[in-house]
Amino acid sequence: MKKFFMALTAAAAALAAASSHATVNVLACEPEWAALATEIGGDKVKASSATTALQDPHRIEARPSLIARTRNADLLVCTGLELEVGWLPILLQQSGNPKIVPGQPGYLEAGSLVPRLDVPARLDRSEGDVHAAGNPHIQQDPRNIARVADALVQRLVQIDAGNAAYYQARYKDFSARWNAAIQKWTQQAAPLKGIAVVEHHKNMAYLLNWLGMRSVATLEPKPGVEPSGAHLSALISQLQQQPAKMVLRAAYQDGHASQWLSEHAHIPAVVLPFTVGGDDKAKDLFSLFDDTVQRLQEGAK
Ligand SMILES: [Zn+2]
Repeated sequence: MKKFFMALTAAAAALAAASSHATVNVLACEPEWAALATEIGGDKVKASSATTALQDPHRIEARPSLIARTRNADLLVCTGLELEVGWLPILLQQSGNPKIVPGQPGYLEAGSLVPRLDVPARLDRSEGDVHAAGNPHIQQDPRNIARVADALVQRLVQIDAGNAAYYQARYKDFSARWNAAIQKWTQQAAPLKGIAVVEHHKNMAYLLNWLGMRSVATLEPKPGVEPSGAHLSALISQLQQQPAKMVLRAAYQDGHASQWLSEHAHIPAVVLPFTVGGDDKAKDLFSLFDDTVQRLQEGAK
């Protein structure tokens, strides 16, 4: 009997030892940051995203299941810049997880690490859903992904020092492959330079800026305000003066306005995956950009 209890104690001790080397739980607000955490963290992290590529990251519900996931997170990686202002504060508050509040190593705001576009000179909320800190849709410029990777590896090392060498080796390998891929994409997309496009929402700014493309109009009359018939008709006459080559939208956005403009302005409506999981091809960060560049090239033909 005594032997049996001793065996039990040994098993419990082994279990406790194993759990002290448990994986780092990463909760990302958007799929691209979960994908990046997996690239760098490998099997030492368990990463998941609060939103999918088919959801509008400005607007999701802080469901109880999501609050439970927030409670278990060791590291929260979010775009920030007010993108999640409608739901992240609720998650933080309801979860009561002290590890992931702003200021702690467990809170990483990706948007604060990149040079920002569209920072308003003057904040006027009557201009629609304008973000004071600038355009938050930073993930479609792969150079921004690299900047966030630099900070993410440091945070993983800080949170899980025992695996520092592992994270640093994976980061080095990722960075080499990523920089080579950026060169490849930039070359492939060189003919797109100067091309004018219409965006559904101002969420393509970083992509267009990276590739030297131009946005001449948006389907939304104001950021966050759905396209209206009057605005779309006005767009048709604007495009007669100032033509665009294609109309872009993200996978999560409704296609009706895009289709309407495509038919009336005789330009292709191009859907971009926008983030990992936005279509069948965009399975990870590398294939996300492979697919994005290819879709732009097809739209420009
Ligand atoms: Zn937005």
